[in-house]
This record gives sequence, structure tokens and C-alpha cells, in this order.
Amino acid sequence: MGSIARNIDGKVLSDLEESLLRLVRRPIQLTITDNVHSMIHIRNSNNGFRVRLHHMFLEADAAVLRSLASFITGRKKRAPSLLRSFVASHHSKIRKAPAKPRRVVLRHRGRYFNLKELFDRVNQDYFANKVDCHITWGARRPVRRQKSIKLASYSERTKMIRINPVLDRSYVPLYVLAGIIYHEMLHHYLGIESRNGRQMAHTKRFRRFEEKFPHYHHMLAWKEKNLHRLLGR
Ligand SMILES: [Zn+2]
Repeated sequence: MGSIARNIDGKVLSDLEESLLRLVRRPIQLTITDNVHSMIHIRNSNNGFRVRLHHMFLEADAAVLRSLASFITGRKKRAPSLLRSFVASHHSKIRKAPAKPRRVVLRHRGRYFNLKELFDRVNQDYFANKVDCHITWGARRPVRRQKSIKLASYSERTKMIRINPVLDRSYVPLYVLAGIIYHEMLHHYLGIESRNGRQMAHTKRFRRFEEKFPHYHHMLAWKEKNLHRLLGR
């Protein structure tokens, strides 16, 4: 569940959201991204807008925000020149693809489950193959010493889903692992939203999507019942 939101000052984010609300005068659902190509993405949503902005806009001044607001409410395809020059002058904020990609070893094959195969199946069944993040088994750590256990996580920075290897057991049902992967893929798919200045990963919208997984309630019940077993207790 790591996200760029973790590094963002909540105050700055809520200020940005409030300023846009004031200028646009329609409901806005704001998501801050670390995208490389798309700095501004706007979609109509009900009677308002769903807006995805690169984190450079956390530093935008009033004039830039006014220009942004008119771009949001207007129907022009091309961003106003003030916005374009703002993006150009904050170019250094855009993450660069490393010249030499860091070598990340993805471990797909476990003893009982191949994560890539499961990921591909979930991607096809629920996301029309639109999810393009990575997946790997996490490092094995002695679980007995852990107080709580995180079965899976998603990092927005590295676009990586990590699945705890305690789930690589013969008694873990396929639908449970698929459901856990589905949850983490949703984090990639939906991004981290901000409402009233609070960053939320598990929004109502997220929960609605989550319940589309047909074995959702079974999966929760299974996890509840078997957590001690996974922990080796
Ligand atoms: Zn989550």
C-alpha cells in the first residue's frame, strides 16, 4: 500500500483540493500521481470531475490554479499556455526512467503457486488486462517473531505487488490468493485518492470494486479463520 501520498504533506494537499473546489465550484475527486507522461488527467464524474494531477501541482501558485480550474471546466483539448509553461518549468519534478533500469528480481514461482499466472488470470477476468504493475513473492522472514502479519502490499513508487510467502502453502485456496492479488491490483488501478485533505487507499469506491470479487466474503472468512495457521501458531 505504499504510495507517493505517504511523502506528501497532507496540509498542502488539502489546500490544493480546497483551492480547486473554490475555483471550479463543482465536486472534485483529486488524485495526486507520480506519472511520467500524464501530468493532468480530467474526467467528468456525476456532476463534477475526477482529476489526476502530478505532484508538481502541489507547488502551483494562484494564477496557475486559476488556469488549471478553467482547463478543468472548459472543453479545450489543449492546456492553456500558463499551464504548459508551469509543467515545463517543473520538468525536474518528473521522475525519469533510470538510464540503466535497476534490476529487480521478480519471483513468480513458489512451491504451490505461480503468482504471474494468477495475476494474468485476475487481470483478464476483472481488469480487461489493463493492470500493468509487477508482482513477486516477498522475502521469507521468520513469522513467529512478527506480531502482526501483512499478507500483501502494493508500492506505487515501484509498481510492485509483494505477496507474503506464508501464503505459498498447499492448504491456501486458489480463490484466497486470487482475492488478495485482486485487492492489491485495485490499489494500482484506482490510485490513492484524497477527500477533504485525507489520503485514502480504502475508499468507498475501493470497497465497491473490492466486492466485485465473487469470493470476497468467503475470502475474508477464510483469512480470519486461518491467520493463526499462517503465522505458525
Ligand atoms: Zn489495501
